[in-house]
Amino acid sequence: MDNNSPYLHPQYETLSRDELKALQLERLKKTVKHCMNSEFYRKRFANAGLSPDDIRSLDDLRKIPFTTKQDLRDTYPFGMASVPLPQCVRLHSSSGTTGNPTVILHTQRDLDEWANAVARCLWMVGLRPDDVFQNSSGYGMFTGGLGFQYGAERLGALTVPAAAGNSLRQIKFIKDFGTTAIHAVPSYVTRLYEVMQQEGVDPRRDTKLKVLAIGAEPHSEEQRRRIEQMLGVKAYNSFGMSEMCGPGVGFECKEQNGLHFWEDYYIVEIINPETLEPVADGEIGELVLTTLNREAMPLLRYRTRDLTRVLGHSCPCGRNHIRLDRMRGRSDDMIVLRGVNIFPIQIETILMQFKELASNYLITLTTDADNDNMTVEVELEELFTDDYQRLVALEKEIKHRLKDEILLTPHVRLVPKGTLPVSEGKAVRVVDKRKVYQ
Ligand code: ADP
Ligand code: ZN
Repeated sequence: MDNNSPYLHPQYETLSRDELKALQLERLKKTVKHCMNSEFYRKRFANAGLSPDDIRSLDDLRKIPFTTKQDLRDTYPFGMASVPLPQCVRLHSSSGTTGNPTVILHTQRDLDEWANAVARCLWMVGLRPDDVFQNSSGYGMFTGGLGFQYGAERLGALTVPAAAGNSLRQIKFIKDFGTTAIHAVPSYVTRLYEVMQQEGVDPRRDTKLKVLAIGAEPHSEEQRRRIEQMLGVKAYNSFGMSEMCGPGVGFECKEQNGLHFWEDYYIVEIINPETLEPVADGEIGELVLTTLNREAMPLLRYRTRDLTRVLGHSCPCGRNHIRLDRMRGRSDDMIVLRGVNIFPIQIETILMQFKELASNYLITLTTDADNDNMTVEVELEELFTDDYQRLVALEKEIKHRLKDEILLTPHVRLVPKGTLPVSEGKAVRVVDKRKVYQ
């Protein structure tokens, strides 16, 4: 390994667009043929009147039917495997909070490639073997645990599997082990900082922290900037999903101008979720991913339900892998209130612009006297309850700014810091208590 190179895998990271496309086509053809080992895909292709030999160009990808989370549920647990089960060495399963759980199988080669992808992401933002990487996300079935563990080890960093929660212990590790980099969900980072403040720990003075990988949940640019300022670090957006292995699918480079999705591993499409046709670059649509080097469970044209847009195909960092905008959220995170479509991230973006407000907030939807309403509770950075006038004026200003953004006026409640619930994993931002009329 050349420690001074900005690239871990220069042979893949610096490919030109044409070279990338040629590699994608070669890998797509191979993947499609490999999929025919699975009864699921054989039937899918037969029903569509399609044979693997029909895939001769990247445009032919559009002939292939989409796959969805429902397919994974219907074939639970192993129905979409493309290798015999004894060749698999691990599985991850999603929580199943929104239905049947889903299972993703991995061969040893899949795990190796996954570790390579995560290592590449971490190298890209400057981590090297002399770094100490603390992984403060949940382990177990959640892929952010083992995914970053093996990736950071592959890079050669001293890797601390701290797992989620127990902030006092996290802070002790950060100080004692000289932690230079952390991976965590963004909502947890702000909690960690609050505990540092309570303990009189100044991250700039008392720690060696310099890089954070934040992801696994939608967060705004404002939230990222806050995290950077709080801890005196650079925070990079990390995108992953269990169906695509986990972390390592898309990651920001040092330019922080969008997530590079690794196109030697995935084909990226952005489609209109209604018409299922591709949208133009720059337009928001649903992210659809095709895996290009997976053995156990390749996924063809998987509809992620995540909404984003293409920002570009080149970057000053020298990588030509597609750049995507930060995710707005999944289509099912969208709140529909009195006929208006709202993403929680729009609300966060406004809230985080008020320096009087801390980072934790909760959106509650209720039905009051047959009217659906939204209440936004947000924590105050400092208490100024003695200055009632100022509090009222602030509430009014927040309401006003929110109305401009989401086109309806929510109730706003300013609450003391530390009052709203904090989850160890992904933050729960919306509680829907509306009456549902059948
Ligand atoms: P689950 O489906 O149970 O939430 P995953 O960990 O597989 O489990 O979640 C993947 C999803 O998390 C993505 O589809 C996306 O909605 C969200 N996600 C992951 N990383 C990011 C990110 N950096 N920004 C926004 N959303 C993200
Ligand atoms: Zn870049």
